[in-house]
Amino acid sequence: MVQTRFKIGNVTVRLIQGDITEQDVDVIVNAANSYLKHGGGVALAIVRKGGEIIQKESDEWVKRNGPVPEGEVAVTTAGKLKAKYVVHAVGPKFGDPEGDVKLRNAIRNSILKAEELGQSSIALPAISTGIYGYPYERCAQIMADIVKELSPSLNNLKEIRVVLWGQEAFETFRRIFHEKL
Ligand code: ADP
Repeated sequence: MVQTRFKIGNVTVRLIQGDITEQDVDVIVNAANSYLKHGGGVALAIVRKGGEIIQKESDEWVKRNGPVPEGEVAVTTAGKLKAKYVVHAVGPKFGDPEGDVKLRNAIRNSILKAEELGQSSIALPAISTGIYGYPYERCAQIMADIVKELSPSLNNLKEIRVVLWGQEAFETFRRIFHEKL
């Protein structure tokens, strides 16, 4: 397995090249849209492997609360995945003038939600870098900054895993995380 590891206080930060649906962690973060319609990319992979219960709970969530604003998160169970929860994070589309702030919030709120749920490990994908068009480099910079900033204040979370699909994404994240962490 291709991976690299950093340590910030008690928190291990791991970058892995692979499939997020295979991760043995408590919380898997999904790169979702506001309507939680999991029709493509990492969202579709999560529903395919976790089962329709994830889409069903997502639909119920939106019915109850309305669409999830960009930068915010919604929680469902994780069906047949190894994880206990899926945190659906809504990232921005590249080109939005408020995009960087929203992406920062989406990542930050995902990590804080896992912490609030009392969980010890979380896996995040490179939110907004697929259909939403963000460059890997920009996402990596934003993610590295938040992870560095939040880690010292985390009590429950012991591992933050970033799961990159493909070599280009992995190499870019590795370079940026080495610079920043
Ligand atoms: P967004 O709409 O936020 O851009 P996408 O699902 O299109 O979301 O892509 C987000 C990132 O997740 C992209 O870098 C994509 O290559 C990656 N990705 C797609 N499938 C998987 C998977 N099974 N595991 C991890 N990452 C994945």
